[in-house]
Amino acid sequence: MSSLFGLYGASGCGRGIMPLARESLGASPTARLVFIDDALAGQRLNGHEVMDFDTFCREPADKRHVAVAIANPSTRAAVVLKCADAGLDFFGVAATNCVRMDEVEVGTGALISPFVTLTSNIRIGRHFHANLYSYVEHDCVIGDFVTFAPAVRCNGNVHIEDGVYVGAGALIRQGKPEAPLRIGAGAVIGMGAVVTKDVPAGATVVGNPARPLAARRG
Ligand code: UDP
Repeated sequence: MSSLFGLYGASGCGRGIMPLARESLGASPTARLVFIDDALAGQRLNGHEVMDFDTFCREPADKRHVAVAIANPSTRAAVVLKCADAGLDFFGVAATNCVRMDEVEVGTGALISPFVTLTSNIRIGRHFHANLYSYVEHDCVIGDFVTFAPAVRCNGNVHIEDGVYVGAGALIRQGKPEAPLRIGAGAVIGMGAVVTKDVPAGATVVGNPARPLAARRG
């Protein structure tokens, strides 16, 4: 039986995940691993064919699996929906050197880059992406389609809702068990921000301490 594995997105994010996907599929003689990218189709990138979505769906295979390696949470969610509607299965990819401690639940389709640490008693939703050197500390609850750019430090008892993007090097203060620090759905945390208090849904916050972007301009 032949299986076709597609990594959706052949730009920066996808090319950073591809070696991990290749390693996790190992030497399986029946698995073929390609990029899917609607803008870059027709080329070979880093040793892999790049095909567009329609070609991927038509390519002969007994089984088709997709991992979506697109950093933008809403773009990733839209692509996941398209793949699910086409009846495709999802696979996740994790670097062999990531650290997962006790009672860590991670939903389908997660991409866990090298040097990521997930400590204990953590719940993470679907299609999470934790980029290089990020960590998630104890008792965090993270929703679906959340992206951590490299070196995000998310301390304990933080609750992050769906579709949040956390920029590189951001630092999120620890919450309390009875009052977790909350980051609302669709929020964007700027690169290097130091988040010391709750962030409302849809807000973009930047700086130290992190404040809404609009408030800084005004
Ligand atoms: N892409 C796609 N189909 C879509 C949306 C995005 O093929 O419906 C591809 C797009 O062509 C691009 C990649 O996904 O090559 C996203 O790359 P980008 O540079 O925006 O960011 P990255 O997620 O790699 O940081």
